[in-house]
Amino acid sequence: MSVKGKVALITGAASGIGKRIAEVYADNGAHIAVADINQAAADAAVAEIKARGVNATTVIMDVTDEDAVNAGIDKCVKDLGSIDILVSNAGIQIVNPIEDFAYADWKKLMAIHVDGAFLTTRAAVKHMYAAGKGGAIIYMGSVHSKEASKLKAPYVAAKHALIGLAKVVAKEGAAHGVRANVICPGFVRTPLVDKQIPEQAKALNISEADVIKNVMLKDTVDGEFTTVDDVAQCALFFGGFETNALTGQSLVVSHGWFMQ
Ligand code: NAD
Repeated sequence: MSVKGKVALITGAASGIGKRIAEVYADNGAHIAVADINQAAADAAVAEIKARGVNATTVIMDVTDEDAVNAGIDKCVKDLGSIDILVSNAGIQIVNPIEDFAYADWKKLMAIHVDGAFLTTRAAVKHMYAAGKGGAIIYMGSVHSKEASKLKAPYVAAKHALIGLAKVVAKEGAAHGVRANVICPGFVRTPLVDKQIPEQAKALNISEADVIKNVMLKDTVDGEFTTVDDVAQCALFFGGFETNALTGQSLVVSHGWFMQ
């Protein structure tokens, strides 16, 4: 089982976790559509991926824009011939206590994580079903798909929602050999997390070092961050797995923070 020769569209692949998944997939012979809202960073990522000897294309989309998502998935199929793997990964973080959470921020976060997952899934499965080759859909959840933390009401709600979505897609997709699974990482040092450290320090009135030690990594078994590579290896496993034996599941990769 492998991703070799398959076409993977990865949202949010211009940075952080998504970018590393794109690189690891490319190193294992997959062709890559880098789907992101950030054109310059996406073009740079595509150039790096092409240098690894596979085909790659840039797909500029805001995952909350229905028309842009439909056009973007069509572009992937036109440029690379197929879509066999969707990694729905694009995401943002906004932290605030619930009494101060702006409704606009709640809606923005829910739209990118939940609407984005729905829109990309709907567009991708149409092609997967028509091509009749099966497929893999991977949602980027979080330990916050299972657990709550203070200051993260919409993020925790959205990440829990992805598990429900994956279970439905697993049931509906089974007849077409389309599988759906969720990866649930602990904290990974990416721009998304680096931005949160000073914000949480301010909101909780503690130092940035205390945010890392006593908030982010407090419940890990060893005080270590999860890495982009740890998450990419899980994505490689789910993306390459070719039977319905592994579907509707969620895998926590977090240095032991939250044990199922
Ligand atoms: P990141 O900020 O490094 O990358 C996010 C990417 O998503 C960026 O390239 C950005 O341009 C893109 N993006 C943002 N909004 C978009 C939109 N509307 N449409 C298309 N693209 C958009 O973040 P990351 O840490 O790599 O996070 C990736 C995913 O992993 C997110 O879903 C996040 O919730 C999840 N996650 C991250 C961590 C962590 O600790 N970093 C832990 C668990 C889960």
